[in-house]
Amino acid sequence: MTPQEVLKTYWGYDSFRPMQERIIQSALEGRDVLAILPTGGGKSVCFQVPALMKDGIALVITPLIALMKDQVQNLQARGIRAMAIHTGMGRREVDLALNNAAYGDYKFLYLSPERLQTQLFQSYLSVLNVSYIVVDEAHCISQWGYDFRPSYLEIGQLRKRLDAPVLALTATATPLVARDIMERLAFREPNVLQSGFERPNLSYIVRKAQDKLGQIKAVCDGVPGSGIVYVRSRARAQELSEALKAQGVSASFYHAGLGAQTRADRQEDWKQGRSRVMVCTNAFGMGIDKPDVRFVIHADVPESPEAYFQEAGRAGRDGLPSYAVLLWNGTDRQRLKQIEEVSFPSLEFIADIYQKMHIFFEIPYEAGIGRMLKLDLEAFCRQFRLQRSPTYYAIKYIEREGHWTLAEDMDIQTRVQIEVDRQSLYSTDLPDPAMPLVLETLMRLYTGVFSFATAIDEEAVARRCGVSVPMLRQLLYNLSINHIIRYIPADHATVLYLHHGRLEPGNVQLSPQRYKMLRSTFRERVQTMLDYVEEEDQCRSQFLLAYFGQRESALCGKCDLCRSGAARPADLGQQIRQWIEARGGSYTLKELRAAFGTADDHFLEVLRELIDRGDVPPYSL
Ligand code: ADP
Ligand code: MG
Repeated sequence: MTPQEVLKTYWGYDSFRPMQERIIQSALEGRDVLAILPTGGGKSVCFQVPALMKDGIALVITPLIALMKDQVQNLQARGIRAMAIHTGMGRREVDLALNNAAYGDYKFLYLSPERLQTQLFQSYLSVLNVSYIVVDEAHCISQWGYDFRPSYLEIGQLRKRLDAPVLALTATATPLVARDIMERLAFREPNVLQSGFERPNLSYIVRKAQDKLGQIKAVCDGVPGSGIVYVRSRARAQELSEALKAQGVSASFYHAGLGAQTRADRQEDWKQGRSRVMVCTNAFGMGIDKPDVRFVIHADVPESPEAYFQEAGRAGRDGLPSYAVLLWNGTDRQRLKQIEEVSFPSLEFIADIYQKMHIFFEIPYEAGIGRMLKLDLEAFCRQFRLQRSPTYYAIKYIEREGHWTLAEDMDIQTRVQIEVDRQSLYSTDLPDPAMPLVLETLMRLYTGVFSFATAIDEEAVARRCGVSVPMLRQLLYNLSINHIIRYIPADHATVLYLHHGRLEPGNVQLSPQRYKMLRSTFRERVQTMLDYVEEEDQCRSQFLLAYFGQRESALCGKCDLCRSGAARPADLGQQIRQWIEARGGSYTLKELRAAFGTADDHFLEVLRELIDRGDVPPYSL
């Protein structure tokens, strides 16, 4: 089959989008590829098609469990054999899954990066016939990226042990980050395939507004069709949604603190157009694929251009005119000025939180590895008289350092283990006639159910048994009080997964250089957002594209500054400066010439002036 035929057969699409084909071709040739396509640009197909065309199983590394499950289900629905191993599965469960991956004719194995370093996974490496190493959200491997995850660094090690080509994908990579990704993934040769980041149907609008609600209402009234309003906190999502509803707008709200069912229902209502405006935190949007979103409003200024660009980019996927509106006022500026301080508590404080957390769960030194702890952050703060925000960011910082993973608002699946052996199961007198059916169904669907607490799909089991889900839960509960099964009901909680045994205070290594570096890149991103909202004469689209390293001379003609006539074409000096900044300040004359297609006298003169004024660092030779 050709790539087109594969696309048609499994997805029903007639043609590839621009760049998809080139990426797939490059991958089929066995080259390492870094693909940079905007959110919704169709990155998944770029690795799924070549993996289907090659022998063996593709390892897909991706950071978010929710998306992982989504993608696996999506593939399974197309008749493709795929499975996932994620944080939160027990050892036996993982063992079984890996065995299936090695001998079971699967095409895709989705993995969270923490899995790579485990001995169990390593022991299977030699028997896995790996077609590709796919790294989704590849910017997570870069310390310069806005979402660095140390566990991603393990992929570099994996690369050394496997001979399969790497396919790295991301929506947000400045040139500096792109270079870093390829280095860390040990690319045999650099190979970036990137589509343009222009969104010609999208109008970027920035409004300074004291009355944000009034502005939001005006957009909702003025622009027909579906919209998203991003806010900073859960409480604000609910408040704003209610305020809009009171004014007659069909609105609903969404955040990670709501139960799984509520979230799914609201998302579906919005997707189907039963509710028009979704007021939400950034928990909403990932993996949601609605083409006809007419506007995305940010009621609060986000902390990074990467996040802003991704969220705003959810408007107008269908190519029809759409709006990305960003509202701000002095309060945002103040908050952003303080946010660095809050997000980066001192290293002493962070190290102390590491110890307190173990004390909280009564875990002695060297113990705790692999534990899954249900964390009640409020209770933790209360016990040690800590403030919530710095404590939260300290926990996140320790996560970045790879000591644990904080899974917030996890929907924990129901788990069941049959505790009696097969023989006595048949001779036991069961009080309810439906019980044998439930047990039989569990045995049929879940091979591991005798040996470990197995995650079960309650709906599927209930359907097979011909009972309702609440009825099934009752039966499971009754079986558990009869000591026939161990039953761990579904839950919604924040969970901390420990990756190491507890370290002694002197051994928790938090590098001050790293801290400084992370903190200053964070500060630069926040500053870029402040520059963006306060910009007076540069086209919004040009501003954002320049940040992502894309030079583009045409004004978009649609943003607020273009419309008011304030936007002037970026002059050469400004273009050069932005290009160099996007590369983190290191560049050669040759690279500059390649990017601008010239290095004539005028060009060199402008460059020299910039260097003399100290606006840009000198080039390296
Ligand atoms: P990304 O990961 O880049 O954000 P996805 O891979 O989730 O994007 O794809 C977004 C949507 O576009 C999906 O619904 C996908 O099926 C669809 N899509 C991808 N490629 C094509 C194509 N060639 N033609 C039509 N739809 C496509
Ligand atoms: Mg994706």
